[in-house]
Amino acid sequence: MHRLTPYVPGEQRADKNIVKLNTNENPYPPSERVLAAVANVEGQALRRYPTPESDALREAIGAYHDVPADHVFVGNGSDEILALSFQAFFRGRGAVQFPVPSYSFYPVYCGLYEVEARSLALDDDFCLALDGFKVSGDAQAGGIIFPNPNAPTGRAVALDAIEALARQHAGVVLVDEAYADFGAESAIALCRRCPNVMVSRTFSKGRSLAGLRLGYAIANPELIDGLRRVKNSFNSYPVDVLAEAAGIASLKDEDAYRDAVARIIATRTGFSQALEARGYSVLQSAANFVFARPPEGNAADLAGRLAEAGILVRHWSTPGIDEWLRISIGTDEDMQRLLSAIDSVSSI
Ligand SMILES: *Cc1c(COP(=O)(O)O)cnc(C)c1O
Repeated sequence: MHRLTPYVPGEQRADKNIVKLNTNENPYPPSERVLAAVANVEGQALRRYPTPESDALREAIGAYHDVPADHVFVGNGSDEILALSFQAFFRGRGAVQFPVPSYSFYPVYCGLYEVEARSLALDDDFCLALDGFKVSGDAQAGGIIFPNPNAPTGRAVALDAIEALARQHAGVVLVDEAYADFGAESAIALCRRCPNVMVSRTFSKGRSLAGLRLGYAIANPELIDGLRRVKNSFNSYPVDVLAEAAGIASLKDEDAYRDAVARIIATRTGFSQALEARGYSVLQSAANFVFARPPEGNAADLAGRLAEAGILVRHWSTPGIDEWLRISIGTDEDMQRLLSAIDSVSSI
């Protein structure tokens, strides 16, 4: 046990006056219709266990993405789906390849499931070149996982590059689309053509439901069956009755979802320009955050000063990205407060 190195999530604080731009939560709450769906769940429904495979929710997700329900798996957040995937597809089959920097849960799962981690460095400008993944020799049996768009950089890769990789690789290619709502081309359509492609998605970011814990995977039924076997060897009911109701309501409330996403994208554009005007380097983002380097590269110091001013952003002291900050996109007002704080701490 003491050999495990767990994931460290961004800080959560109870103080409501904090401007929280450190965990990529959606700044807009879910719509009234989603809240009403939770409120309308009857006591009789809570008395019973949920349906083990969340059939109604899987039907709704399948209809939304135009895939059959047997191509859909749901879980308690997409992190759970990633964990089940490591166990179902990656454990005992050779090294797993993923980009670095990227989502820091991947090496944690490698530790948990005792899978060798093989990292692919990003280009100097933080682009992910998918043709850098190894697809021959002993790499063939292993898995490949990457977020699209990538975190913490926000950069997206094109769908044809994903398809080319999936066609060359024998093992499972898992595309983590936690942020795809905000700009990347989805690989969901690929799941019909390439039996080794799995896409994981979440209700946490674009759909404003991080507190609900709901994620899903789309892939061909054979891979879905692999996830189901692992899940049913561990927990028959990872998705509760309230989450199923809210998830279905969210998928039906397309206008509210699109509206919030459009607002975040507009805020992202304005905020990126405002940082650039202050001499920051800002990567082009397809996500609900930006990755930015202050002109002096003093990211750690700046993050500390901003926290003192009640504004949380994310900083890693990992070499290569230690001069950068990942800043979630909040409301226009949140970003204005951040810019004012940046201006006042920078003039000290
Ligand atoms: C947020 C995030 C997830 C996890 O989402 P949950 O559904 O909340 O567990 C997975 N992958 C990446 C890259 C993320 O940023």
